[in-house]
Amino acid sequence: MRDLSLLTWSEIKDIDKSKSMVFTVIAPIEEHGTHLPLATDIIEGEYWSKGAMTEIERRSGAECFYLPPFPVAAASVNEFYGSIHFTMKTVCDVTYAVIESIRFMGFKNIVVIASHADPQHQIAVEKAVRKINKRHGLCAIAPMGQIFMGVSAEKSDKLENMEKEHGNDFHAGRIETSSLLDIDPRYVRNGYNKLPDSVITEKDMISRERQLAAMGKYGYIGAPGSSSVELGKDLNDNCIASICDAAVKFFRRDGYQKYEHYSLYNILPLHFGFLPIAGRVRRKRVTG
Ligand SMILES: [Zn+2]
Repeated sequence: MRDLSLLTWSEIKDIDKSKSMVFTVIAPIEEHGTHLPLATDIIEGEYWSKGAMTEIERRSGAECFYLPPFPVAAASVNEFYGSIHFTMKTVCDVTYAVIESIRFMGFKNIVVIASHADPQHQIAVEKAVRKINKRHGLCAIAPMGQIFMGVSAEKSDKLENMEKEHGNDFHAGRIETSSLLDIDPRYVRNGYNKLPDSVITEKDMISRERQLAAMGKYGYIGAPGSSSVELGKDLNDNCIASICDAAVKFFRRDGYQKYEHYSLYNILPLHFGFLPIAGRVRRKRVTG
């Protein structure tokens, strides 16, 4: 795999586009509790993409390229200290600009890794992907929405049981803390295992106020205290296998459809964020 941004334009021109894939991570700088860095979703997106690219090159003969991550994302809760969020429209416009530019270089297989599960982000990214595919022919896919919804290559029983038991681990909880412990434990602050659980039902996740209340003074929703490297490795391996499965199937234009459309895309109220007033980012001044 090669970093596209370290090549010259003439080197890019010489690449055999029919045998290439380009990965691009679109994820936020966002608070992740007092125990994980702001770049958590970007770190995950890069780790999963690189894992998948290694496997794809081994399996399919395609050469993989990637760009530096674009730290642009939308979220339903913006007020927490430390986050840099954008409107859904901005995310859609940036995603569109990035993939259209890659398409115009001649690449026909673009995989957008939106490693941030918030439905507003997933919908904004998918809207851009749909628009590009309509205008320029099928050339891009954003599989993370469906992977976050549970669509995957294959999943171990252990992982499936864990997800059932901890279905309400939404943000910087057991799942993300375990994932980062596996990627590099230095990302995770000491004392994470003593953090109390923060509980919220799936139903309450649609209320901004209730999400904020559950985040409390720490900023996470879930159970970071019971995280482990072993679980993180299972989660990361599964995510890499699923991205790889989606990308290889997309490259072959065969069987990729289960990853193509985010299953919450057709829920109309989730698109209200594209409206100027409903979709504004609520930044809260905390100091100064
Ligand atoms: Zn995250």
